[in-house]
Amino acid sequence: MSKVCNFCGNAKFREKHVQYIYRHQGRFLVVNNVPCEACEYCGEQYFKAEVLKKIEEEFDDIHSGSKRASKEVTVPVEEFAEIQ
Ligand SMILES: [Zn+2]
Repeated sequence: MSKVCNFCGNAKFREKHVQYIYRHQGRFLVVNNVPCEACEYCGEQYFKAEVLKKIEEEFDDIHSGSKRASKEVTVPVEEFAEIQ
């Protein structure tokens, strides 16, 4: 069975490891080196359901306080109207 990209219809994909930012209800989890398949034409990334499930579980563990992330970063936030 061959699949095609949902966005551009291209059928060639490349395996990659990327940074994935999971966001849920204003909270974030950044996961580095997540395996995915990227469309060779438009770059759209496709993740396996089991990979996303793992990330969601990790997010829940960290934000419920039952686990500490190995690293934390502070992220600057701006309102666009205030950017000069
Ligand atoms: Zn594509």
